[in-house]
Amino acid sequence: MRKKGRGLVFLFGATLLGVWMSSCQNLSSAALGYVNRDSIETDDQQESVPTPKPLLLDKWDSLQRNQIHFVVDTVRKIDIKTQKKMLKDSLKQEFDKKPKHVFLTFDDGPLVGSAAIDSLAKAKDIKVSVFLVGKHANSGKARKRDLAKYENNPLIACYNHSYTHAHNRYTYFYSNPATAFDDFEKNENDLNLKHKIVRLPGRNIWIYDDVRKIDLQSGSSTADLLFANGYKVYGWDVEWRINSLTGVPVQALETVFGKMKSFLNYKSSMTPNNVVLLMHDDMFQTKKGQELLGQLIDNLKKENYQFEFMEDYPIKY
Ligand SMILES: [Zn+2]
Repeated sequence: MRKKGRGLVFLFGATLLGVWMSSCQNLSSAALGYVNRDSIETDDQQESVPTPKPLLLDKWDSLQRNQIHFVVDTVRKIDIKTQKKMLKDSLKQEFDKKPKHVFLTFDDGPLVGSAAIDSLAKAKDIKVSVFLVGKHANSGKARKRDLAKYENNPLIACYNHSYTHAHNRYTYFYSNPATAFDDFEKNENDLNLKHKIVRLPGRNIWIYDDVRKIDLQSGSSTADLLFANGYKVYGWDVEWRINSLTGVPVQALETVFGKMKSFLNYKSSMTPNNVVLLMHDDMFQTKKGQELLGQLIDNLKKENYQFEFMEDYPIKY
């Protein structure tokens, strides 16, 4: 089935739109298991500024200009605008006949909260992707146990989020791509990671196959270096934040679920019919946070979305 309509998907492959840019803020103390988000370096304040989502119309206009070799139908005497709309509608209909795929990704583990993610993946029988930080894994026995749970759970795929998490000083970290690269390599060796799949701390950068989508130039050289050495770099379409200590969501469950649905229905994620959700392990250290995650998973299941590993991204037809 994946081979069918490959050309169709290709048309969308380079439409790098609709990506919510926000920071992959993080923790410096894995042992504490919470994030002091105010501790982020000032030179990275720009990270939390979201980019405006392009209008659907803009996307399709761009798609038609750049990607679709539009052939004007002069026989039926239908105006070009109508023809373009018909083409757009027919493409959307084709995609809607196919399954839709969700990628639940959790960054910064192992942390307090990782054990709950491990349990939920099993209880709900869904695939989950985790982007790990070696420094956190080596911060104590409890985190080592969390890591072992991840490693022993076939429903969890472990990927690379750097060893030090840039010490949360992103601009400085990425100013030297060679040392940043070494940090990812150290993480891969230390955690014995099997896949060359990374997510950059503090950056929503995508570089894989023929796709290159950069949110901030700082980080792009490191990402290019990783890609040149066989790594795939993945960002995210939608981010969910929950206060790690109180379990109070920053974005309501309904908001995040609605956004994921909208991205899938309107084909506005990085790849049509695929949506990548970013979360952080420490969000699920409270019962309240864990219940919210369970509810989100149930909602996604009711839509018959398929849960996938990042190593299979993007799912094409
Ligand atoms: Zn992170």
